[in-house]
Amino acid sequence: MSAPTTPRTSPEADRALLADFAAMSAFGATPAGGVERQAATPDDAATRAWLAEWLTARGFTVVHDRVGNMFGLLELSPGAPYVLAGSHLDSQPRGGRFDGAYGVLAAAHAADRLRRHYAQTGTTPQFNVAVVNWFNEEGSRFKPSMMGSAVFVGELPLDTALATTDTAGVSVAEALDAIGARGETDVFGRARRVASYAEIHIEQGRELDKSGTTLGLVDRTWAANKYEIAVVGSQGHTGATAIADRQDALYGAALIVVALRELTERFGEELHTSCGQLNVYPNSPVVVAREVRMHLDLRSPSDELLAAADDALRARFAEIELQADVAIERRFAHTWKGHVYQPEGVALARSVAEDLGVSAMVVRTRAGHDSTNMKDLVPTVMLFVPSVEGISHAEAEFTADEDLCTGVDVLTETLARMLDGALHRSETRS
Ligand SMILES: [Zn+2]
Repeated sequence: MSAPTTPRTSPEADRALLADFAAMSAFGATPAGGVERQAATPDDAATRAWLAEWLTARGFTVVHDRVGNMFGLLELSPGAPYVLAGSHLDSQPRGGRFDGAYGVLAAAHAADRLRRHYAQTGTTPQFNVAVVNWFNEEGSRFKPSMMGSAVFVGELPLDTALATTDTAGVSVAEALDAIGARGETDVFGRARRVASYAEIHIEQGRELDKSGTTLGLVDRTWAANKYEIAVVGSQGHTGATAIADRQDALYGAALIVVALRELTERFGEELHTSCGQLNVYPNSPVVVAREVRMHLDLRSPSDELLAAADDALRARFAEIELQADVAIERRFAHTWKGHVYQPEGVALARSVAEDLGVSAMVVRTRAGHDSTNMKDLVPTVMLFVPSVEGISHAEAEFTADEDLCTGVDVLTETLARMLDGALHRSETRS
């Protein structure tokens, strides 16, 4: 056990954090206490502008990369690589105010505390620090989710991301240009390197809340298979077309929704399935639907179980095609396997929690995060604070003030140790 290297929080620091969080939550606020700030919309832009002003006022240099990721750079050790910390400011439609936004603000406050700490003590850390707001983590307006971090780590080509369109036909490039968030360089690359990454996020699950634990140390992600499919039938009159003649795309879609749920009965708690979006064409009261587009989502901590569930679903697709006389086409897939976070990152966070006297437990993340991408590039620490009743992607999402404040304390000390080279040193990105 070693003593913390940074000063513990003060009541003023806690108050400033909570006041900033309240100010930030006003952008895109919804009546029931949530926010709606889908990627590159005016409300997302307003939140970004607020953060940029906050960072600039404290000496950070704010820059955007070519896919709209926003960085607040703080050079403490000229020429040295950067430790990145952040999350995402975009939200789901009628989403919660904590998902992502808390992690960005926590990183900003932690980095600013460190800035003042080094200035006061006259010390220089080994690495620099940058706050990051990843573009389009949520994937609600533009698919796939975790887009900005995927481009950053090289898992998604920049041009593919920029050409992606929303349902109105607006491309990512156009949307970023409209809010002035498309930069001209990669920001990080040969000249400026990344050493490691840290992210704090609400748990979006019940493990911490149930057990009364303050901090989650994330050691694994669940694997996910996400599909956009089209169920293609034939348009007809709901009164005049004989049942035997119908190729009702909505009937086929309904069978798929049920099949997804039934998979969880067969595979148990280690499988989560959903159909989160369903668009019916032409969606008219007296017309048999000709086509339904759906977004399906299968997740499991086990790659093997996920593959088996996927096989079972495909077998059901073949049956449903016959039963509803429709064709089921796969349009788009976004998948990731279950992965481990670097054990040294988990160990670092555990030692920080012990030294600060914060209760902690190891948890797996079911949701994807930008850290899911970043851990493939550099040593990564992923932390969770409790979500009351596990509610997320909904306006009722809630995390207690005390947990928000403790999370920033833990992140600050974790970053301090990362800046001193506690994790793998000078990993580079080419
Ligand atoms: Zn999130």
